Amino acid sequence: MAAVQELEQHLGDPADPGRLISCQRSTDLDQREQFPDAECRELDRLGIPAHYAPRAWGGALERLDTSAELLRVVARRDLSLAIAHGKTFLGCVPVWVGGDDDQARRLADDVVRGAVVSWGLTERDHGGDLAAGDVSAVRNSDGYVLDGEKWLINNARRNHLACVLARTSPDPGPRSHSVFLVERAALPSGAYVPLEPERLHGIRGADISGFRLHGAPVPATARIGAEGHGLEIVLKSLLLTRAMCAGLSLGAADHGLGIALRHATTVHRYGRPVIDLPQTRRLLADVLGDLLLAEALAVAAVRSVQALPGEVAVTSAAAKYLVPTLVQQALTRFTELVGTRSLLVGATFADACLQKLHRDHRIVGIFDGSTVVNLHALINTFPFLNRSGPGYDPGSGPRSAALDAAVRRDAELPPLDLRAVELVPRRGAALLAAVPAAAATVRGLAGAPGVPAELVELTAWLAGACAAIGTAAAARRPAARPPADDFALAQEVAGCVAGAAALHTWLANRHLAGTAAAGPLRDDALWVRSALARLRARATRREPAVAAWRDPLVEAVAAAGDVSLLRTEPTGRGVHP
Ligand SMILES: Cc1cc2nc3c(=O)[nH]c(=O)nc-3n(C[C@H](O)[C@H](O)[C@H](O)COP(=O)(O)OP(=O)(O)OC[C@H]3O[C@@H](n4cnc5c(N)ncnc54)[C@H](O)[C@@H]3O)c2cc1C
Repeated sequence: MAAVQELEQHLGDPADPGRLISCQRSTDLDQREQFPDAECRELDRLGIPAHYAPRAWGGALERLDTSAELLRVVARRDLSLAIAHGKTFLGCVPVWVGGDDDQARRLADDVVRGAVVSWGLTERDHGGDLAAGDVSAVRNSDGYVLDGEKWLINNARRNHLACVLARTSPDPGPRSHSVFLVERAALPSGAYVPLEPERLHGIRGADISGFRLHGAPVPATARIGAEGHGLEIVLKSLLLTRAMCAGLSLGAADHGLGIALRHATTVHRYGRPVIDLPQTRRLLADVLGDLLLAEALAVAAVRSVQALPGEVAVTSAAAKYLVPTLVQQALTRFTELVGTRSLLVGATFADACLQKLHRDHRIVGIFDGSTVVNLHALINTFPFLNRSGPGYDPGSGPRSAALDAAVRRDAELPPLDLRAVELVPRRGAALLAAVPAAAATVRGLAGAPGVPAELVELTAWLAGACAAIGTAAAARRPAARPPADDFALAQEVAGCVAGAAALHTWLANRHLAGTAAAGPLRDDALWVRSALARLRARATRREPAVAAWRDPLVEAVAAAGDVSLLRTEPTGRGVHP
């Protein structure tokens, strides 16, 4: 991931107001509700758009985890900027998933040269109910004519292209819509009318509005995939983009944690740094455990797109539900930790970044499928979660080679093939299916150096929880409008997927030579114990008053004074998990 380190170095310290992408400038732009134009140009100059287009078609994208990590590096400095710039990647994915070589090559060429691409899915009256969309595309002898309004759309006013989901059949059903890549410059005047910008409580400088299409003619070659296959292409694309969105949340978490740590270690109360107050320490420890769990899930989800493309329906929905949820809760707790200063406007405290971050991050749980939509997506996988019988091949050992690639940081990933993702996890989910074997491995390690009894106990609990959700999910009946109880079960499923990701990640990487920063977190399985302990506390709604991992975890992070400690396991290349 040399590109990630290079970007980190190029962008430098965001606390330095002399940097183009600095906290001071981003809160200033936010207060003036001004788009980060210069910052976007800088990311273009640094070649970031090439990482939005697969190498096979002329871009630089070979591994999705690298692109997610690049988004994280930007989000760690300014989440608004990461969303404004990264949206082009999301807008392109339907073409990478459903377009032909010629369409993909032409779009890749445009994107590498800095074209801005919007994703036009939702409509004012239909929100997440994409199959109800009214924007129409009517076929004629030259191609199609598009009519109707898309709202809310990121970069609708400044884009060059938009991927638009439009109705090609008046009949309801899964074959009612198609995807079109609309090139604004090729349209007659008045055919694409951007709507007035909406003012927002978060990502205030972003360009969020919509557009109206008035008899917009597009050639037949603008249609992506076969007519009527639009919903399928969009749903597959969302599996990828939802996994990628976790990178935005991780960047926000890094940023928030940095601010909270600085406050906790430099502000003194009752004669000691705030971090020494028992309640502050516990708050920090618990949030760190949550963030480590979020990180393990996020990384496994994005790597799964290449390693386990048949199972992304589970991992991606779990990540898009749980990672933004945990990170938003963490940001709320950081404002609690910082207290008064978190409410101040201006330069008095951390350039007022924490309140901006708290507002900005809310959008990650809304766009690309809201939290509830992703829980619904997980409910749709219930009939498949228990599959580990005939037809399912979890591999010869506790982890198959494919699962290994999803979690082992030095494992090669299979070549990027965005068309390989499957909407239905027919063979189940390897992350879950391999938990009993992983728990048995940990049991066998009991008493070995670095494997405390608490870890053995936590993994046994996780194995039990995974078995229970598998049985419960298999007993649920599929329904177009699932009962509320199913959503509660989906939350438990997401937790188990996250716990499984953490457990496999720990087992797969514990022998790798650690980076200096990873050391203290790896001692006595500290990071995975804290992640699993937090998961169990949430699931059982029982918070242990005393937990052996809390003090060492906080001390390890405070001593490093560096949020890179959150990078749970080394990659073998010295970068994030
Ligand atoms: C800042 C911002 C930027 C955006 N950018 C884009 C963009 O670039 N492109 C784009 O296409 N869209 C974009 N959107 C739109 C965004 O994706 C939608 O807001 C999102 O789809 C939710 O729509 P909605 O708020 O109308 O609510 P819906 O998701 O439709 O929800 C309405 C109500 O129904 C419930 N509900 C919905 N679905 C389910 C379900 N499956 N199960 C149970 N309950 C459900 C919800 O809980 C809620 O109470 C953006 C939105 C914002 C705020």
